[in-house]
Parts: sequence; C-alpha cells; structure tokens
Amino acid sequence: MFCTRCGSKLEPTARFCSSCGAPVASASSAYAPPSPPYTDGRLVRPRNNRMIAGVCAAFAQAYGWDVAIVRIVVAVLCLTGVSALAYVIAWIIIPEEPFAPLPPQN
Ligand SMILES: [Zn+2]
Repeated sequence: MFCTRCGSKLEPTARFCSSCGAPVASASSAYAPPSPPYTDGRLVRPRNNRMIAGVCAAFAQAYGWDVAIVRIVVAVLCLTGVSALAYVIAWIIIPEEPFAPLPPQN
C-alpha cells in the first residue's frame, strides 16, 4: 500500500506515513462490525423472553419499550376484548426470530 498524499511505500500495518506523516486509511479502521441481523428494529418474535407467543416482547424489542409495560397494556386491553383478537393477528403476522447462530466450538 502507498501513501495517498506523497506516494511513499508504506508498511501494511502503518497508521501514519513515515515520509509525510499523513494518516493512513487502513481497512481495519474503516471496518464497522455489522449489527446482529435480528435486533435492528425489525419486528420479530424472540424465541426467548416470551410469555405466550412473544408478541409483547417483539414490540418491546423493536421499539425499545419495557416489555413489562407492554404486557400490562396488552393484558388490560385484552380484558376489554379489543386486543385479544389483535394479539392473535399479530401472532400470525409477526415472523418468528431466526435461530441464532451457534457459538463457535473450541
Ligand atoms: Zn506520505
């Protein structure tokens, strides 16, 4: 690799040019780790931390709500008969979280 300012040859691990002192844009510093695919705001029903079908946990996880508050609100609404049907519909519509990849075995 070469310095983008003066063109001097650089060590692959160099962070600054040894000739002109310009910072080196290395691939490692530009790399940003991707966020987990199922915690970035998508509405999925998590496989753990669920009470019935994970609908409350799905909304809490997707929007950053407290799952306990979501459950209380849903439970109160269920008493009125409004959200019981909505819960079943959400159960059907919201996809289940994909299986998390297994941790690497040593
Ligand atoms: Zn340079």
